[in-house]
Amino acid sequence: MKILVTGGTGFIGSHTVVELLENNYEVVIVDDFSNSKKEVLDNIKKITNKSFSFYKGNVKDEEMLSLVFEKENIDAVIHFAGFKAIGESVDNPLMYYENNIDTTISLCKVMDKYNCHKLIFSSTATVYDVNDELPLKEDFPKGTTNPYSSTKLMIERILKDLYVSNNDWSIVVLRYFNPIGAHESGLIGENPQGIPNNLMPYILKVAIGELECLTVFGNDYDTKDGTGVRDYIHVVDLAKGHIKAIDYLTNKGIDYFNLGTGVGYSVLDIVNTFESVNGIKINYKIGKRRSGDIAEYYADSSKAEKLLGFKVTKTIEDMCKDSYNYILKNK
Ligand code: UDP
Repeated sequence: MKILVTGGTGFIGSHTVVELLENNYEVVIVDDFSNSKKEVLDNIKKITNKSFSFYKGNVKDEEMLSLVFEKENIDAVIHFAGFKAIGESVDNPLMYYENNIDTTISLCKVMDKYNCHKLIFSSTATVYDVNDELPLKEDFPKGTTNPYSSTKLMIERILKDLYVSNNDWSIVVLRYFNPIGAHESGLIGENPQGIPNNLMPYILKVAIGELECLTVFGNDYDTKDGTGVRDYIHVVDLAKGHIKAIDYLTNKGIDYFNLGTGVGYSVLDIVNTFESVNGIKINYKIGKRRSGDIAEYYADSSKAEKLLGFKVTKTIEDMCKDSYNYILKNK
């Protein structure tokens, strides 16, 4: 089976490509390196010792995509390509709406033209309107607080309309919780440019001395230690969830799955675990709450477990260890 992976050199995309190759899928990657480096391609080869096809380009480019479909006999698509920084999306909403929505529309048009109707879409837990009921289940109310999340929710709705218009489509929407960690080889992982917004990339920059001190955004939340609680999932477990989702594409329709562990950890849990497994001190101070942050959320992953056979195998210790291993090798 041949899978087209858009955004296959990004953080989650690259780990998914590794899992696909290790499970003997044929892989075609389309990526424009807008938020990744071309060395990732060599590193995927080093890890898997397998080959794949690569096309440099933006998924919005229907002509380029058509050429890919013309040349390769694509059976299914995993669509990662998109912008993903919440803060940036608040500053540049039009760029986010244009890029994330246009790429998906172009992709679906070209897929339909080539009679390929199997699609896995990368969505996010931030499509939920988090109020008081936890853990979050797939059918809970939706509501977004920033343009990035709105693009994902809008695309979910576009894909639903697409299925209603043509019942040949099989679409799986995966809602990711907080992916961290890295491949245990240390060859692929997440190393954002500039000052990171997310917790683990920030901790890593403090760990290697590139930044001085982590600011914990608030310790007065109604959580076990007052700091924000999230459902962190190892990126390799998350990638494996996509392999499970491919089997589910034999069902026509559109369906939605949370990919998380079902367990929430606080900011201080992460800092303390990182320190103890890596034997390193993380300098931190308590600061003000970050605007727009939510105290606590975590997944109910039972639907993915039951219907996809999804099961996480990595612990929070693995996540902290693998993240540090990656940054040490990629400083
Ligand atoms: N966080 C923090 N300091 C940072 C970055 C994040 O205290 O420099 C906290 C944040 O308030 C939240 C948790 O870490 O409670 C996870 O934040 P992240 O941005 O990684 O993910 P998201 O908030 O999008 O779930």
